[in-house]
Amino acid sequence: MANWDVIVIGLGGVGSAAAYHLAARGCRVLGLDQHHRLHTYGSSHGKTRIIRQAYFEHPSYVPLLRRAYELWNELEQAADEHLFHRTGLVELGPKEGVVIPGVLRSAAEHGLAIEELPIAEVARRWPGLAARELHSQSQWQAVIEKDAGYLRVEACVEAHLRLAEQASATLQHERPVRHWRASPHGVEVTTDDGVEHADRLVIAGGPWSGQLLSGLGIRLSVLRKYQYWYAPQQTGYDQRDGFPCFFHETPTGYFYGFPSNDRDGLKVSRHSGGTPIVSPTPAHPPDHADQSLIEDYLKAFLPGVGNHLQAQVGCYYTMTPDEHFIVDVHPDHPQVAIVAGLSGHGFKFTSVLGEIASQLVLDGQTTLETSLLRLERRHNT
Ligand SMILES: Cc1cc2nc3c(=O)[nH]c(=O)nc-3n(C[C@H](O)[C@H](O)[C@H](O)COP(=O)(O)OP(=O)(O)OC[C@H]3O[C@@H](n4cnc5c(N)ncnc54)[C@H](O)[C@@H]3O)c2cc1C
Repeated sequence: MANWDVIVIGLGGVGSAAAYHLAARGCRVLGLDQHHRLHTYGSSHGKTRIIRQAYFEHPSYVPLLRRAYELWNELEQAADEHLFHRTGLVELGPKEGVVIPGVLRSAAEHGLAIEELPIAEVARRWPGLAARELHSQSQWQAVIEKDAGYLRVEACVEAHLRLAEQASATLQHERPVRHWRASPHGVEVTTDDGVEHADRLVIAGGPWSGQLLSGLGIRLSVLRKYQYWYAPQQTGYDQRDGFPCFFHETPTGYFYGFPSNDRDGLKVSRHSGGTPIVSPTPAHPPDHADQSLIEDYLKAFLPGVGNHLQAQVGCYYTMTPDEHFIVDVHPDHPQVAIVAGLSGHGFKFTSVLGEIASQLVLDGQTTLETSLLRLERRHNT
């Protein structure tokens, strides 16, 4: 006899949301995480994550984002907390590049409100972005998405955890899962304190997913990435002054960032690049080459920020070969749902991925279209 309806392995971005949705549906939920609550060893820390809908990566994500927006809104109401800051997002890059055409395609297919701007108008609205480098790029274009901004990443995870507990989920941190297996009646999950039995299982292991899903033929690679905060040396970069989030496709890669505020400097990071690692470690040695690329980028495109580094934090991307997520039921065990390989762009989706994981594991299907994210493509990529 199973003592739980569903066990959730991993209580980070996805697992916290899955535990919440499962508990809200009345399941007896056990959530297990190897580390302490809101730890900084995985992928869901560093204060902020960009959220946007005109998705350059693929238009198929837009319906998921529409649902994610509804769920973030519901979470804010239920938690009575401001989680989503609608600062707007400026995306900049070559007209014939990846980002601008991708944004325009998603916006056109799904009727999303965006504004196309000439570079000179960007410089007029946000002088902090008015670098000579930008003016010299005659083939560049800007797109503004007003209903975009950032999520407070740790506050989102904590809100999901807290509301899951209020809905009677049992969440146990610092309890690593050593092994799981399907049993005739459900699943068995082995920890150092014994074996837990459940009817169903959700696996949401973030950068540790490779270990939890070995044997499934999924190719996941883990990249170490960094987030940096700089104290702006000139005014005009603050959220209160209307400075937006930004995402640039540049000749040296993709860079993105967030406005400064009362507590924190301007945060900037490189979406491309990253150091491949074999398995996640808690400590992140400084990466001087990465920092130097960041500071070259700031000098060229946000010159008033300067190079007074306040803080830096390491983090992990878990990449699939095609950089689309894996969201599916286990091919051999229909009582097991998997969310993995969020490829460095998954946090904005965690609200809806939690809901989808709960539907997959309880109903065997989801009400949302997820064919782009199915496991079967692993043989082709
Ligand atoms: C620097 C950086 C910037 C990013 N920027 C953005 C952005 O702007 N917008 C965006 O949408 N996304 C962004 N992302 C991506 C996003 O943050 C991740 O896709 C998302 O947070 C991943 O959530 P997760 O639940 O898969 O992983 P995690 O949050 O890491 O959760 C996995 C959990 O599983 C637990 N676990 C693993 N194995 C076990 C085990 N055996 N037993 C028990 N527990 C286990 C871990 O301890 C961990 O808590 C960024 C990521 C990084 C690193």
